Amino acid sequence: MKSVNGFLLLREIPHYVSSPFGYRIHPVTEEKSFHNGVDYATYGKKPPIYCPFNNGKVLRVGSDRFGALFVYIAFKDLGYVGLAYHCSKIICKVGQRLNKGDIIGAVGSTGRSTGEHLHWSWIKLNNKWNQYYNADYVDFEKFEYKEEVKELTRQEAKQIIKDVCGFADDTMDYLDSYIWRDSLLVRLAKAIKR
Ligand SMILES: [Zn+2]
Repeated sequence: MKSVNGFLLLREIPHYVSSPFGYRIHPVTEEKSFHNGVDYATYGKKPPIYCPFNNGKVLRVGSDRFGALFVYIAFKDLGYVGLAYHCSKIICKVGQRLNKGDIIGAVGSTGRSTGEHLHWSWIKLNNKWNQYYNADYVDFEKFEYKEEVKELTRQEAKQIIKDVCGFADDTMDYLDSYIWRDSLLVRLAKAIKR
């Protein structure tokens, strides 16, 4: 099944939706139950899981009674909490800020799972920010978002290049003076950030 939002979490790593959102026969218990997330199977691999949006905050990291590793990440701007489940490892800590593309952890098969996959639940927040456990679950594959296109200022671009490349000030001034249709600095900084 073609995945829409799986690419936000797993990028170009080969994956497919092994179990969609909604009622299903549970692969382990074989009982009919509500699947409150989307399963992205990764062909037996344990690739990194990327933070799908900007301004995330890690709310909780832990493991359930079956040993499944999980992490809850709040995206306050969007009004949703994301849950990554069955991870093989989690490298972020409670309270940590995450932006799009930051690595959360790695796909796994911990807990009640039949193979490597990322279970992602997308939980709509009600009025109370911290009460996300019993809130509404939403099909992440149907979640629509607008890609925020934030243009870097020359100053921001300069800082990114300086931080990453460690160029001397006169080199930076030279780069900054070099303008084609748009700033070379901005183009360089965007390439670095990608
Ligand atoms: Zn699942």
